[in-house]
Amino acid sequence: MAKSKLRPCKDVDKEYDMLWLWCPGCDEYHAVKVNTPSGWGWNGSQEAPTITPSILVRGTKPISDEEAERILGGEHIEPVPTVCHSFVTDGKIQFLTDSTHALSGQTVDLPEVDM
Ligand SMILES: [Zn+2]
Repeated sequence: MAKSKLRPCKDVDKEYDMLWLWCPGCDEYHAVKVNTPSGWGWNGSQEAPTITPSILVRGTKPISDEEAERILGGEHIEPVPTVCHSFVTDGKIQFLTDSTHALSGQTVDLPEVDM
């Protein structure tokens, strides 16, 4: 089986394709839309993908069990925002410094994904 750093997925109900990539900074998949005017550009390679422009994922940090108990106890806990901002070039993922995870500012190989 060919090595791939992307999991392409044709969305049968929609006009575009999705690309799933495993983000080593967030430890989760990020998905981008391609083949649509509002989507990302992709060089068509699964072994050494380049995706433009940058991928920006905003979220909030999952609350811990301890925090969940405090919320149940009536305490207000402000969600902690997270940012993951990256460029995927030639099979590598470069995290910009506005990313909030441990790989911020680093460039690493994009991990291979199971097809
Ligand atoms: Zn990420």
